[in-house]
Amino acid sequence: MQLVLAEGALSRTDIGRMTGLSRTAVTARVGQLLAQGLLVEESGAESTGGRPAGRLRFNAAGGIVLVASVGRSRIQLAVADLGCSVLAECSIEVDQGIGPQRCLPPVVDQLYRMVTDCGRDLADVRGIGVSVPGCVDPDSGAMVSSTALPSWDGIPLRELFRRELDVPVLVEKDVNVMAIAERRSPLRGVPDMIMVKASTGISIGIVLGGVLQRGALFAAGELGHVPIGVEPPVLCRCGQTNCLEAVAGGWAIAKALQGLGRDVKHVRDAVAVALKGDPEALGMIRDAGRRVGEVLAAAVTLLNPEVVVIGGDLASAYEPFVAGLRETVYQRSTALATRQLRIVASTFAERQGLIGCATLINDWITSASAIDSATTAPRSLNLA
Ligand SMILES: [Zn+2]
Repeated sequence: MQLVLAEGALSRTDIGRMTGLSRTAVTARVGQLLAQGLLVEESGAESTGGRPAGRLRFNAAGGIVLVASVGRSRIQLAVADLGCSVLAECSIEVDQGIGPQRCLPPVVDQLYRMVTDCGRDLADVRGIGVSVPGCVDPDSGAMVSSTALPSWDGIPLRELFRRELDVPVLVEKDVNVMAIAERRSPLRGVPDMIMVKASTGISIGIVLGGVLQRGALFAAGELGHVPIGVEPPVLCRCGQTNCLEAVAGGWAIAKALQGLGRDVKHVRDAVAVALKGDPEALGMIRDAGRRVGEVLAAAVTLLNPEVVVIGGDLASAYEPFVAGLRETVYQRSTALATRQLRIVASTFAERQGLIGCATLINDWITSASAIDSATTAPRSLNLA
């Protein structure tokens, strides 16, 4: 499976040659993948001796995945194919404060409707990928700590999304999913990377040696709650004072702009005002970039990433935000750590979370563990 995903269409002979597996072993494995609908055979493309040997390619149309990227102020939903092409998408505003048991059922209803609207059937769903704004225990699928949605902590989200569908559901922290999205971009081969989510809050996703780092209690990367020097002290929404995001987070910028009489409810409004040329909003965003860069410099010195990727709503004002960020990252990191460092915008911009959730679940569906545990019997489906 991994070979076909990496190389494109291959014959059984190619697969045997490249893996060193016997013909019988290749035939058995390919037979399993054809039965699961993950490969299709292009007939008559190549001939070995008397019998035409078709080339095998990945069957992106062999199923669909459901995707939900939960943010503090909205939830982005999508239906994608197994190759992460988005077939349908929408963004809905819901009151997440009422807790996931009450908030999620209409969200899942909407996802199911989107499946029908794009001409597919719920029986085609092979998995669900979800991102949430807080630290997640990927084994239980529950948030363990979120300052953005504290009422969601400890509640297993898998069953709320899965309902009657007998499919895997993966739940991951939003910034980690944004890092995973870059596996679908030209950065896919970069082993050491930091993804910055600069939005309502600020956090980073860390990939080292090609492996996502979550930390011992899944709390790695909470950069927004690193204390910085501020006078007079400011209170953060986590209860501590002088956290980075209490100065440079989207919620803090929106609040500061409200104080100046601007009609700004959310970080996206603040960015819109700045992009229209409001000098004070622009100044705040550039200054936020500087502040984030100050703290990020410590992570760059510590981890020596090859690339820092900037995403999230604040990154929509990329020029002023990143101008400030570059300034302090290069000033305050060691020279060797920044010698070849690239700071770039996230590949999928607004859709980074959606593509990341689709990648999260599709990478699982096409993994050896999932393929070996899957049954080839038709999956039962009861939606009564
Ligand atoms: Zn804080």
